Amino acid sequence: MTKRTMAVLVAAVLAGSVGAAASPSGAAAAPLGMPGSVPGAAAALPTAAVALPADLVAVRTLTSLTGTHRWYAQTFRGLPVLDGYYAVHTARSTGAVSVADGRIAVPSTVSTTPLVTAAAAVTTTSARVEALARQAAAAPASAGAAPKTTVALPTHVHGATLSVLGGRNAALVWSVVADGSEGVTRTLVDARTGTVRGVTVLSKAATGQGQIFTPNPVVTLRNEAITDKNDANQAVLVPAYRTVTLRNLSGTGTLVGTAVRIVAGQGGLATSPTNTFVYTRADDRFEQVMAYHGIDLSQTYLRTLGFTDANNESQDVAVNTIADDNSFYDPTLDKITYGRGGVDDAEDLEVVWHEYGHAIQDAIVPGFGTTLQAGSIGEGFGDYWAATMSVPTSGGYVLPCVMDWDSTSYTTTVPHCIRRLDTTKTVADAVGEVHADGEIWSRALWDIHKALGRLKANTIIIESTYAYTPNTSFAAAATQVVAAARTLYGDAAATAVTKAFHARGIL
Ligand SMILES: [Zn+2]
Repeated sequence: MTKRTMAVLVAAVLAGSVGAAASPSGAAAAPLGMPGSVPGAAAALPTAAVALPADLVAVRTLTSLTGTHRWYAQTFRGLPVLDGYYAVHTARSTGAVSVADGRIAVPSTVSTTPLVTAAAAVTTTSARVEALARQAAAAPASAGAAPKTTVALPTHVHGATLSVLGGRNAALVWSVVADGSEGVTRTLVDARTGTVRGVTVLSKAATGQGQIFTPNPVVTLRNEAITDKNDANQAVLVPAYRTVTLRNLSGTGTLVGTAVRIVAGQGGLATSPTNTFVYTRADDRFEQVMAYHGIDLSQTYLRTLGFTDANNESQDVAVNTIADDNSFYDPTLDKITYGRGGVDDAEDLEVVWHEYGHAIQDAIVPGFGTTLQAGSIGEGFGDYWAATMSVPTSGGYVLPCVMDWDSTSYTTTVPHCIRRLDTTKTVADAVGEVHADGEIWSRALWDIHKALGRLKANTIIIESTYAYTPNTSFAAAATQVVAAARTLYGDAAATAVTKAFHARGIL
């Protein structure tokens, strides 16, 4: 929250300074930028300007301190020519015009009639991206004979655009953009023959390699007897390590990316010129990698559900910086801190995800959680988020039991859990403590998860959060969950959701 406000302020100050700088020399400001976003093509250019070629369509007009910049895309018989560009730069003070002509030659023999359908091109791309995702998921862990990891991103194909590939290998192609294990890619499927002509990674972020537990060694090894042993490397834990691709990194050799930014860490921040972050648990950088991976995975998952503005920022995270066996989200700094007491908290992805749950809620509802019940919803949702994020890698092992590894430090009951999603608590059992009462809420969410499945439940629950107030109650928030279910999936879904809250005495 704080960071967003500052970004707006900075933008306002910059805009102000441009205006202030321009006014003293106001007389010189002759050819100012066009007010609209699409220029009226050549009409906007000074008379002495170059004649605009006919094969262009306007993309956008930008205004900088010294001039305007009109960007155009190249076309061939009405179809976009991939990567062809044309720009006209006009200096504000002199009106001088310069052109950057990046058009690519297209032989007139190229046909613009596809023989392959868009659907077929999407199928080809989808198969390729999914095969890669499966390969990534099956990459052997560095820890020897460990089982294959199951970490993989869902594939999402955005659509297909009929386009022209210029140059020596000119062809009519379907340009298919998809999300996958390589990031966002553009696959060119020949629209006449169906063969793949090329694949380009469009996403700017770098990928790296990391070593993690997922969600934690108790679950992976199905072993409730392992213990922290003061953060020591232990042979029994070796089979729990997994090698994963760290995605959306900035490429600066640090654990900073589009969804998470490790800003502090005991013993210093992890760095690697090759973006290779492979450590074992005794090394404090190991937990930095886990926090990065867990949060990035969560944000990516939200996006696959369609939520592009649910904590859409690089979340600040401090790892192992407090000696307590505790972790927290600080809404005043918009920062998560994971403690190193007991099992280092970020060694258990269910702790990582619980805290990120708080960050998600605070991003969607500024200042969320000002009442006892709203606070309990916050804790219940955090536990729920940890459990649902664990589904892909837990093999179903005691899912309703959260933070299985972290809680080996402070529980004796087996299975080890800090809290559970399947208690029989109702509002009549509320004790006035947010974590304990959060079990009332998390049980309702878990029942919805079981009734409607992971995809629908999570889509409904996140969507409903946008309608919460900071001081909401169990009943008011539940009413919003029901409403979201009805809007998104109809009456049957709403009935299932109502039933889950009714069973808790909430509705
Ligand atoms: Zn919490």
